Amino acid sequence: MKILVLGGAGYIGSHTVYRLIEQGHSVVVFDNLETGHIEAVHPDAKFYKGDLRNREDIDNVLDNEKDIDAVIHFAANSLVGESMTNPLKYYDNNLNGTKVLLQSLVAHNIDKVVFSSTAATYGEPERTPILETDPTNPTNCYGETKKSMERMFYWVEKAHNLHYVSLRYFNACGAHISGEIGEAHSPETHLIPIILQTATGKRDHISIFGTDYNTKDGTCVRDYIHVTDLAQAHILAVQYLVNGGKSDIFNLGNGVGFTVKEVIEKAKEVTGKDIKVVEEGRRAGDPAVLIASSDKAKKVLGWCPEYDSLDTIISTAWKWHSTHPNGYSK
Ligand code: UDP
Repeated sequence: MKILVLGGAGYIGSHTVYRLIEQGHSVVVFDNLETGHIEAVHPDAKFYKGDLRNREDIDNVLDNEKDIDAVIHFAANSLVGESMTNPLKYYDNNLNGTKVLLQSLVAHNIDKVVFSSTAATYGEPERTPILETDPTNPTNCYGETKKSMERMFYWVEKAHNLHYVSLRYFNACGAHISGEIGEAHSPETHLIPIILQTATGKRDHISIFGTDYNTKDGTCVRDYIHVTDLAQAHILAVQYLVNGGKSDIFNLGNGVGFTVKEVIEKAKEVTGKDIKVVEEGRRAGDPAVLIASSDKAKKVLGWCPEYDSLDTIISTAWKWHSTHPNGYSK
């Protein structure tokens, strides 16, 4: 297949590009490099620098690249905290960017898109594990824009017969098994990279945000899913659409939750380092427990996570962080 990956220089995008190329597909990457890294783009992918909000940038790619079978769309902002202080940035990039993309795809007769959504569409869940049919009441603007993206695709399909799969990720983590690419955000806000940056000495300590939740040790429970397993789910979703599958939404998680303290303990074991921990108050907007039911993705897409143990997740992330303590900067 020939696949256009939007945001293919970012964390999940770059791992998906690697996986596609490892499986023999042809890949075109489009990224504005605002949060992505050119070093993360697989050398066998063709790269275009451009911004989705500029119609001519995406039109140029689609005019040049014939025979694209499907688009995988990761190009979005994804920081919950930033979305609360700068919501218009999220409306502009995540929704306006997607609107421009859809206009260009319709004009170029491309009718299959797989895109990133998030567990943040659910907000505070009424029950766990969360099913795709559960209510979506986002508690932050990031989740709201992803929910609106899903609705935009819903209506565009009705008018223009463009088919889509929305993938609602839980906590993406880990790194490519080679250690060549991995997670490198700036600023970094996610738990596992922060713990591992503490292990490398780049940070003094990891702060635990809240120890008074109604969970087994008082810290939040999350469903951690390896980035390569997420990547594989995108490829299966493309194949599903190519085989005539109908537009749909799928959760992607392991169905197992770990507390913040359990993740820290596992990181101490994997790295062999003493990681300094400071207990602090709760972070605004954090639900106590988020665990996915991914039964639908397993049943319909044939998805089967391979890297699902916490040990593998942290070991692969550690391979990346210990060899790239400054991320992609030299
Ligand atoms: N967390 C923490 N300290 C940190 C970063 C995160 O205690 O420095 C907690 C956070 O409160 C949440 C969990 O770790 O309960 C996962 O947070 P992350 O930001 O990685 O992902 P989120 O679940 O917010 O998407």
